[in-house]
Amino acid sequence: MSLPGKTAVITGSNSGIGLGVARELAKAGANVVLNSFTDRDEDHALAAEISQETGTKARYIKADMSNGDECRALIEKAGACDILVNNAGIQHVAPIDQFPVEKWDAIVAINMNSAFHTMAAALPMMRRAGWGRIVNIASAHGLTASPFKAAYVAAKHGVVGMTKTVALETAQEPITCNAICPGYVLTPLVEAQIPDTMKEYNMSREDVIKNVMLERQPSKAFATVEQMGGTTVFLCSDAAAQITGTTISVDGGWTAL
Ligand code: NAD
Repeated sequence: MSLPGKTAVITGSNSGIGLGVARELAKAGANVVLNSFTDRDEDHALAAEISQETGTKARYIKADMSNGDECRALIEKAGACDILVNNAGIQHVAPIDQFPVEKWDAIVAINMNSAFHTMAAALPMMRRAGWGRIVNIASAHGLTASPFKAAYVAAKHGVVGMTKTVALETAQEPITCNAICPGYVLTPLVEAQIPDTMKEYNMSREDVIKNVMLERQPSKAFATVEQMGGTTVFLCSDAAAQITGTTISVDGGWTAL
C-alpha cells in the first residue's frame, strides 16, 4: 500500500493494459478513475468491482480521447490527478501508400495528442498538490519501427519525445514523467492485429504469433498487463523519485536486439 490518498487517472482503461494498470494502482492503495469513450453498464461495473476488491474508490468517466476538449474535461471531472497514465491507444496496419487518412488522424489523435491535452490539464493540479507522477504507455514502437505501422510508430515516437520534454519542464518539481515501452502484450488490441497480419504475410494465426509478433521478442513470451501495472506502481514509488524523462522497456529483450 504505497499510494493511499492518491488519485490516478488512467485513459483507455476498460480493457487490456489500462485496466491492468488501474487494478495494480488500486491494489497499491490509489483511488482510480477508469476511462473510455463508451458509457455502458459494464464500464461502470468494472470500477465497482475494483472498489470492492481493493477498498479504494474507483470511478468510470466517459471521455473520447480523440477529442482534445474531452481529454481536458476528463481531468477536470476527476477533480484530482496525482497520477496520470496515458494509455488509450488504437492500431491500424497498412502500407503507407494505402494507409487510410482517417486512420492516420485517429491514431495520432488518440495515441499522441491525447497525452498533450491530459498532461496540460493535469500538471496544474499536480503542482497544487505538490506531487505528481505521469506514466505514458508508449511502446517498443516508440523506440524502433516495424513495417505497415507508420501512424502508430510516429505517434509512439512522439509520446517518447513529449515525455522527455515534460520531464525537463518539471525537473525541479516533485513531479516525474516517464514512458513504459511494452513489447507484445496479448490484449484485445493485439488480438485485433492478427487477422490483418495473417492476410499481409499470408500466414496462419500460430505463425503470425510465433514468427511475426514474438519473432522480435527474444523471450518468446508475451508481456502481461500485471507487469505493466507493476512497473507503473514502481514509477509512482519513492524509489523512482529521481527517475524522470526516461523509457522503461518491458519487452522481453526486443530493443536489445
Ligand atoms: P486495448 O485495445 O485492450 O485497450 C485500448 C484502450 O483504449 C481500451 O480501453 C479502449 O477502450 C481505449 N480507447 C480506444 N480509443 C479510445 C478513445 N477514443 N477514447 C478513450 N479510450 C479509447 O489495447 P492495449 O493493448 O491494452 O493497449 C493499451 C496501450 O498500450 C495502447 O496505447 C497501446 O498502443 C499500448 N501498447 C500495447 C501493446 C500490446 O502489445 N498490447 C504493446 C505496446 C504498447
